[in-house]
Amino acid sequence: MTSHHDYAVAVAELGLPAEWQTTIVLRPRRRTLCVQVKPGGTVAILVPPSATPQRLAQFVSDHRKWITDKASTAVRRAPAHPVKTFIDGTEFELLGQRYRLELLGPGVPPPNGQPLPTVLTNGVLYARREAPERIQQAIIGLYQQTGLAWILRQGRRYELDARIQGLRYGVRDLGRRRWGIYDPRTHVVTLHWTVFGLPMHLIDYVLVHELSHAARPGGRAHGPSWQRRMHQWMPGWRQLQSELADAGRQVWIGDWTDPA
Ligand SMILES: [Zn+2]
Repeated sequence: MTSHHDYAVAVAELGLPAEWQTTIVLRPRRRTLCVQVKPGGTVAILVPPSATPQRLAQFVSDHRKWITDKASTAVRRAPAHPVKTFIDGTEFELLGQRYRLELLGPGVPPPNGQPLPTVLTNGVLYARREAPERIQQAIIGLYQQTGLAWILRQGRRYELDARIQGLRYGVRDLGRRRWGIYDPRTHVVTLHWTVFGLPMHLIDYVLVHELSHAARPGGRAHGPSWQRRMHQWMPGWRQLQSELADAGRQVWIGDWTDPA
């Protein structure tokens, strides 16, 4: 029987790019060879007992172009969310503005006298100096509050335009896969708090996307009627959708670490 080592030697001779971190996985019950490109761009080759090392090498050579394309796409699509430290000067994006964090000691009020955390037009985000998990929660709370106030202002004209009545809004954590939800049973549009760290035109896109659902165009969720509404409200929406996929991988989703 051919050993793992024999396969590894055959693959090593192909001189594949090191960043693929190619692994060979013996699969006793498989009948065919198979290549998988994992998220992040690593490569796994599944090998059935019937394959010889020569056959394996040939197979990988034949698929080299395909693997190269897939791996580069996987690298481009890998999440790259920033990890923040809660120290003075750390930057946060909120509603298209950049803010530098400034931590205030116990009892010290921010210049605008507002409850903490708060942002000022001078580009400073003031928060209370406390345990990092509490600062994180406070800043996420600020995103939620600021985001919700923005939606309430911004959503109004779409509601009027599409005669949407009694719509309510929420901002909260929607996990890793969704930016927004419209729930037809409760008639509530909810956006993820992380949306408000995106560039302004993408925040607009996420809101308008959900409002187009809330207008109840009929048909499938993203079908022709919904698309007509999107074209009307946001003619360049298809482009924004793919921009969102890119920008979304780099937006802050709450990750933090202690200062080194
Ligand atoms: Zn949708």
